[in-house]
Amino acid sequence: MTEPDAIVRARLRAVPKVDVLARHDALSPARRSQGDAAIVRAAREVTAAIRRAVLDGGEAPSLDEAVRAVLASLDAARMARVRRVINGTGVLLHTNLGRAPLSSSAAARAADVGRGYDALELDLATGGRGRRGAFVEHALTTLTGAEAALVVNNNAAAVLLALTALASGRGVIVSRGELVEIGGGFRVPEVLARSGARMIEVGTTNRTRLADYERALDEHPDVAVILSVHPGNFRISGFTEQPSLSEVARLAEARGKWLVDDLGGGALLDLRELAGLEGEPVVAERVKAGAHLVCFSTDKVLGGPQGGAIVGRAELLAAVRRDPLARALRLGPMPTAALEATLEHYLVGELDAVPVLAMMRQPADDVRRRVEGWQAALAERGVAVMVVACEGRVGGGTFAEEPVPSYALRIACETLGADDLARRLRLGEPAVLPRIVEDAVLVDGRTVLDGEDAALLDAIVAAMTPRS
Ligand SMILES: *Cc1c(COP(=O)(O)O)cnc(C)c1O
Repeated sequence: MTEPDAIVRARLRAVPKVDVLARHDALSPARRSQGDAAIVRAAREVTAAIRRAVLDGGEAPSLDEAVRAVLASLDAARMARVRRVINGTGVLLHTNLGRAPLSSSAAARAADVGRGYDALELDLATGGRGRRGAFVEHALTTLTGAEAALVVNNNAAAVLLALTALASGRGVIVSRGELVEIGGGFRVPEVLARSGARMIEVGTTNRTRLADYERALDEHPDVAVILSVHPGNFRISGFTEQPSLSEVARLAEARGKWLVDDLGGGALLDLRELAGLEGEPVVAERVKAGAHLVCFSTDKVLGGPQGGAIVGRAELLAAVRRDPLARALRLGPMPTAALEATLEHYLVGELDAVPVLAMMRQPADDVRRRVEGWQAALAERGVAVMVVACEGRVGGGTFAEEPVPSYALRIACETLGADDLARRLRLGEPAVLPRIVEDAVLVDGRTVLDGEDAALLDAIVAAMTPRS
């Protein structure tokens, strides 16, 4: 045995044993909060890492250091839990932050249904089987003028289901200008391929004419569906052309084909009138323009829980419902309850109860006054910040570039760079996600929800206070 071998062996013997490490007293609180299996797993990973480091010529750490490594690994696992974040980005529908926050009654209804049994599929009048989502369907048809509706897990699921049910094994015509990728890897050609339909591209990236659709219909007798996709998160400008939805609808009608509209956003009301936001189509108008089915997210501008709605012709929705995929993609009871409550706000006109609508509608001056209030409160606690005008966005694949005028706290720290300060805010309790603009940390007031003010100020003070 050579000398280095002997040293390595001695060091390997000094590596803490998994069971000794896992049973260490300092891990008792973690054992109570996270369970024994997680501790043993972390201890196993830490000892394996130490052993690898020793074989690479490193020293074995002390037992205390190994315990700290176990705690760090447990912390890292817990950090990955879903938890509340204060949204200081100014992006109202932030896909990485769970999109739309729920109204308090929507959140309360979801929690109430989650805690008990519910009549999700029971008709209480007859005691027989009822239909999941019947009220949501009733509300959506009332609000959109469509004959029928169905909700599933998200809009990607809605589009996949609609195409599978109507066009599997047949052709689907889509304009090349609409072959887009929406955030989160939703690519129209891939979803189409998954549905079992054959994609027939027409037109060019910037220009598609009605005649392009007509020619494709002449050439491909197996076409079942014309798909229209609203590319909300990107714009082609300049030399462009795309027939209106009603023109395409008339063509589809004349040729006995179905027009499916992937609308994305799902505005139930005219957001131009409501909030001065241009360019987001209203579901009811798409139905009126002649789309046979319209698919949209319930957690984008609609402002509800994650879900995807399909509204349109009753006979088509009957076919969609019969497809086995419908069962696989169905919405659970908690989001169903939250969506019901959200739609009830629309039915009775309580628009400011829906947080996304309230945030869109809030005048910039109101945001400024609120942010100035934070500035004053922080000054009293010895933290100096500035108030600056800024621009937020709606986000969520809608109005991608449409700026939403707003105001923000501009936070700077003498000892920390913007990235470090932002990191501290993210890792604080509660977590705060700011925006970094030109090396400054901004907390946009528009997306900080009612009731989060005190927690936000505490989090800023904590992030600015040097740790000893
Ligand atoms: C957002 C969007 C989708 C995906 O919807 P999810 O609810 O995120 O699944 C699909 N199509 C369009 C046009 C969209 O804007």
